[in-house]
Amino acid sequence: MSKYSFTRIAHPSPKTAEERATLMANPGFGKVFSDHMVTIKWTTEKGWHDAEVRPREPFQIDPAASVLHYAQEIFEGMKAYRMADGSIGSFRPEENARRFNESAARMAMPEIPQDMFMEAIEALVHTDADWIPEGDGSFYLRPFMFASEAFLGVRPANEYIFCVIGSTVGAYFKGGYKTVSVWISQDYTRAAPGGTGAAKCGGNYAASLIATAEAFKNGCDQVVFLDAVERKWIDELGGMNVFFVMDDKTIITPPLGTILPGITRDSIIQIAREAGYTVKETPYSFDEWKEDAESGKLREAFACGTAAVIAGIGTVKYPGGTFAIGNSGDGEVTSDLRSRLTGIQRGTQKDNHGWMRTL
Ligand SMILES: *Cc1c(COP(=O)(O)O)cnc(C)c1O
Repeated sequence: MSKYSFTRIAHPSPKTAEERATLMANPGFGKVFSDHMVTIKWTTEKGWHDAEVRPREPFQIDPAASVLHYAQEIFEGMKAYRMADGSIGSFRPEENARRFNESAARMAMPEIPQDMFMEAIEALVHTDADWIPEGDGSFYLRPFMFASEAFLGVRPANEYIFCVIGSTVGAYFKGGYKTVSVWISQDYTRAAPGGTGAAKCGGNYAASLIATAEAFKNGCDQVVFLDAVERKWIDELGGMNVFFVMDDKTIITPPLGTILPGITRDSIIQIAREAGYTVKETPYSFDEWKEDAESGKLREAFACGTAAVIAGIGTVKYPGGTFAIGNSGDGEVTSDLRSRLTGIQRGTQKDNHGWMRTL
């Protein structure tokens, strides 16, 4: 039952079935977009209004739009899956809605009613259902909001646009699963206490890209950030949370605070505890990581997030050297947790938590 009404403007020139099939055959990540988008406007006077499902096309925004100058922007990342029975499933989408509003509050932006967020997602998914692949791939949804008011003064804007776009994505590890290598950033941090580390905002990414570029230059796939105060404790990767597995199968993950509260992170903690593992949300330093990896006390490490789900970390590189994690291959606990989590998401394992939603 929909509570909000979305004006529907069909795409005048959607991709043909043939064009779509070609694009969906090898989509990669974030490059193949569906035909429509959802937009909803917000102004101080009118609140949320003008909800539309319309052709995906460039925005016309004023060159003075606040987002272009002061980066008032937040986003979410979530997936819709084609389930075995043909229905469209999504994993804990209400958690994305809740986190979106927490990000909005931190960035002095208006909150969106949770049911309006959900209806926007559903409207796009149903309109562009042909873009949801079968098999290993999924439909990546990107809800976001930005300050559209034309005003160069510095204060929270009075006008915003909420938008949802969708992208067909392939299996994250195409050509087979492999572990990733990470670079420890020594010169740059991602988030300080009191800052925006726990908000999913574009600005966090803007500040992290130089460290990502440094990681690439050093032959690594991803960057790991240390805390901004002592430059000692592991925070997270540029866009994924991190877990460590000890020889007694105790699992450690950094506590919430300056890190982004990942929904994958939260789900893994719950699944691991139910599977009998001890999980500690406790600070873990880079020095301990190196020492424990070298002594064999640490057996596995992995990164997690919606896009990759769980990616094992094989090698760690830092300005003074390199060390390997376990045998640099897929760890036993890592692969156990991955199959439990992806099993729930794909509908092949029992969903005891009621995490899956039919869109
Ligand atoms: C989105 C994100 C994550 C992962 O969150 P999920 O809800 O698991 O997808 C982790 N770190 C950062 C910085 C992120 O932006």
